[in-house]
Amino acid sequence: GNRTFTMIKPDAVESNNIGNILQMITDAGFTIKAMKLRRLSEDQAKKFYEVHAERPFYMELVEYMTSGPIVAAILEKDNAVADFRALIGATDPAEAAEGTIRAKYAESKAKNAVHGSDSDENAAIECAFHFADEEIV
Ligand code: ATP
Repeated sequence: GNRTFTMIKPDAVESNNIGNILQMITDAGFTIKAMKLRRLSEDQAKKFYEVHAERPFYMELVEYMTSGPIVAAILEKDNAVADFRALIGATDPAEAAEGTIRAKYAESKAKNAVHGSDSDENAAIECAFHFADEEIV
């Protein structure tokens, strides 16, 4: 697949790193196909992270993702899902490779600056969750 979905999470918006992160994304060869600044409601965050509903950190995750605005975007590139996950690095910034977005900008395993879809199937679901067809260029 050639598309993935990302969010710049509340911690990275709050720390004024929207511009730095978008620069890293476009420098890595991704094209922005859709983008918006938005605030997720509790219901929207719960639905987006439904797959994690049974995990012990689910409510913490929902609370964090509704704590401030996020930037949602659709990114295009060959091999987008895998290449984007390589660019963002491991979930825990302590384990994220040098030069990755999370190594540079994540605060912790929970407040980890960015989201990236984990499969082509989920990328399609997540793009449709946040964007109508006419919002995609
Ligand atoms: P994402 O799906 O956001 O790209 P990921 O695939 O690297 O992240 P997952 O294991 O799917 O990580 O967890 C989803 C999100 O839940 C993480 O990005 C992080 O914000 C949060 N999270 C994961 N593990 C923990 C934890 N142990 N405690 C608190 N929050 C966590």
